[in-house]
Amino acid sequence: MLDGFGRSIDYLRISVTDRCNLRCRYCMPEGGVEWLPHDQILRFEDILRLSRIFARLGVRRVRLTGGEPLVRRGLPELVAGLRAIPGIREVALTTNGILLSQQLPALLEAGLTGVNLSLDTLNEDTFRRITRREGVGRTLGALDTCLAAGVPVKVNCVPIAPEEELLELAALARDKPIPVRFIELMPIGLGKELHGRSEGELRALLESAYGPLTPYSGRLGSGPSRYWTLPGFQGQIGFISALSHQFCHQCNRVRLTATGFLKTCLQYDRGVWLRPLLSGSDGELEAAIGAAILQKPAAHQFAQAQAQVPGAEGHMMSQIGG
Ligand code: SAM
Ligand code: SF4
Repeated sequence: MLDGFGRSIDYLRISVTDRCNLRCRYCMPEGGVEWLPHDQILRFEDILRLSRIFARLGVRRVRLTGGEPLVRRGLPELVAGLRAIPGIREVALTTNGILLSQQLPALLEAGLTGVNLSLDTLNEDTFRRITRREGVGRTLGALDTCLAAGVPVKVNCVPIAPEEELLELAALARDKPIPVRFIELMPIGLGKELHGRSEGELRALLESAYGPLTPYSGRLGSGPSRYWTLPGFQGQIGFISALSHQFCHQCNRVRLTATGFLKTCLQYDRGVWLRPLLSGSDGELEAAIGAAILQKPAAHQFAQAQAQVPGAEGHMMSQIGG
């Protein structure tokens, strides 16, 4: 369906849990957050019912996220249920990869269509410093498992590691046929307390090491990332630059939190609580979803001090789903 600004909303990010096995500094506090009790989390059958309604309204692609989606038991069952919904063509996963190698076969059997792996450095010490846990080897292993299985995979990096490590990470796209995408750190939750590199800084860094970036003319997904190639690279370099290259005018997405809140813009707490409406009819849910999408804000205001933005999001990224 179209929102109030004529944007077609066809992409739904579903957070299946607020829990995580890492503690990335820009996303979750060291001690974690107080985990939500199970009875406050949407059951798979609720997610599937809501997804059927979203599909009727025009959603064609779904991404499962979290917290860490793979810590929720039985995820392949949800993937299979989503793939069975008429209209839904893609069901992808965003994960830190720690648990992926062992779960990938069942997820692929269930119909998973793509994986985004979050990885900010290849250096074990920096990985430990950023995530406050061990695991770089497991995430890299998951990348190779995805490549061996032939599932489309992209690496997503929030660029806060030292420059030489960002260059090493970018070189994954030289050595493997995968896109490596740099995501500008957004001032949400703990992200407000850190400094990430901008697209401009990264472009200069990459070009000084690897040569000129050339726009990539092929198509890779339908999200906000813009892609480039570098001499001798098999894969692409992508930038998702919500701050320096705001893309709100082409936003195609809404988010469903693990607790059943339909969030219509990353920056604001704007949206509708769907969980209390689950006791009503599908028609009531559809009307509530449609009304919330019509109210989707025009744009974020990350450039403005958050205290000055009315209704600015107060949750952690792990509670929203990224
Ligand atoms: N645990 C999974 C993972 O890390 O891929 C899924 C959830 S995580 C919240 C989704 C994505 O959001 C990750 O790629 C993470 O790097 C990104 N993210 C978290 N906080 C962010 C922030 N403040 N700015 C930009 N990206 C952020
Ligand atoms: Fe967990 Fe992903 Fe947040 Fe890191 S970014 S703490 S892996 S939810």
